[in-house]
Amino acid sequence: MVPDEILVGGRWRRGSGDVLETRDPATGDVLARLHAAGPDDVDEAVRAGARAAADPAWRDLLPHERARYLTRVADLLAERAEDIAALQTADTGKSIHETRALAASAQGTFRYVAAALETMEGALTPPRGPYVTVSTHEPIGVVGAITPWNSPIASDAQKAAPALAAGNAVVLKPAEWTPLVSLAFGRLAEDAGLPPGLLSVLPGPGPVTGDAIVRHPGVGKVSFTGGTATGRAIGAAAARKIMPVSLELGGKSPTIVFPDADREQALAGLLFGAFSSSGQSCVAGSRAFVHASVYDEVLDELVARAARLRVGPGADPSTQVAPMVAHAHRDRVAAMVEAARAGGARVRCGGRAPEGAQYERGAYYLPTILDGVPNSAPVCQEEIFGPVLVALPFEDEDDLVAQANDTVYGLACGIWTADYRRAWRVARRVQAGTVWVNTYKRFSISTPFGGVKDSGLGREKGRDGILGYTRQKSVYWGMDEEPLPWAGA
Ligand code: NAD
Repeated sequence: MVPDEILVGGRWRRGSGDVLETRDPATGDVLARLHAAGPDDVDEAVRAGARAAADPAWRDLLPHERARYLTRVADLLAERAEDIAALQTADTGKSIHETRALAASAQGTFRYVAAALETMEGALTPPRGPYVTVSTHEPIGVVGAITPWNSPIASDAQKAAPALAAGNAVVLKPAEWTPLVSLAFGRLAEDAGLPPGLLSVLPGPGPVTGDAIVRHPGVGKVSFTGGTATGRAIGAAAARKIMPVSLELGGKSPTIVFPDADREQALAGLLFGAFSSSGQSCVAGSRAFVHASVYDEVLDELVARAARLRVGPGADPSTQVAPMVAHAHRDRVAAMVEAARAGGARVRCGGRAPEGAQYERGAYYLPTILDGVPNSAPVCQEEIFGPVLVALPFEDEDDLVAQANDTVYGLACGIWTADYRRAWRVARRVQAGTVWVNTYKRFSISTPFGGVKDSGLGREKGRDGILGYTRQKSVYWGMDEEPLPWAGA
């Protein structure tokens, strides 16, 4: 049984907020009931974080010394990878293949960030007078990290590792539906010897706990991943505090198939892009643009293969499409598909929950392919965040680019073609933070990630990821032999 404890400023104790219930979406069974963090807990965590970050025991560590803490976290993530993967499968419903990959990615993040920290450099800027100028980066103090429910351990690591590396304390708020992995991560960081107070884990409702973190005067930056509406509200609150934010938001990403594409690869890419994680992925390739000359044959084959995907519980290693995170979310996705159907969309496959006793209690939904609606239809414009792909034909490159960019989002794009010149042209014209050419949903911690337009602000990952959690300071060292002009005035 999971203890009713959250991590507040170095102490494990009951939260002061309302009770949160988290369920296994494969069965609907309650996994844990926990008291959420209330605003008083947020205040305590932020104050403790500020003290821990200012303590010389952390503040004065040299980069290579701080890197050792990150490496120890990585070692424990490796040791406990299987437990973390199983816990994440239970709490989010995701397939065990995917949660193992996410646990490995969290470990890789800590190792990469530790290495990047050891090799970071300040700058000696060219002098334009009798002085030496040094540009340094300092910690912000306390960073709020607010994460969504789809990939907790990976998104927690993506924020906590660079924020800690930069010398900050972190107040981490996982999503209401999936608090367990982040709490396990809190225990792991403690066991790795991270000084108390540097990491708090505060599950709770966004508008209560999350809002208290964003508005707290002691929080100097918020790093947020989640929906665009929430990101907009957080950005507005941050503007009032003149506080930096990074926002990783939603998407409606196009995947594009040209007639010369390797058909087998493109089909696999479309299926994996749209239906892995049951489509609950910010970069899901949820709009498939297929050249009109091959549209019918590609669609027929895609539909046949989507209908053969193995739907089942995440813990079964043969499962390809696992349940959705919660019954309420599944019902929301189903309602969006119904609205599309009522609006004239053709349901080529799926469009309902699977039938059979083994699916009755879980939050399942079949891989669904729709077409027959223009790109302006709501189902082509709104993020569904479920296993739903809308297919659209295109005539030529200009038509394609116009349709692909006709969305408020700009997170990702996939291009399938054998013509590298065309891939380069289209990659440059599509408005997206990440473009995959002849591959999809590949991620590397060394490559910056983020969105354009309503998909976000700022970049995570890469060597510069750590700098996002710092404040830049310039120091002038006077070298004048002569006094300044007003001397002796
Ligand atoms: P969400 O915006 O509802 O919630 C995300 C987090 O914000 C949760 O922890 C939630 O409790 C918190 N929150 C909600 N309201 C808040 C408020 N007023 N103040 C502070 N915090 C608040 O998103 P979700 O449903 O958990 O996740 C799905 C969304 O996340 C999708 O839109 C998806 O595209 C996006 N996402 C983006 C990325 C990316 O890197 N771009 C990655 C994963 C998910």
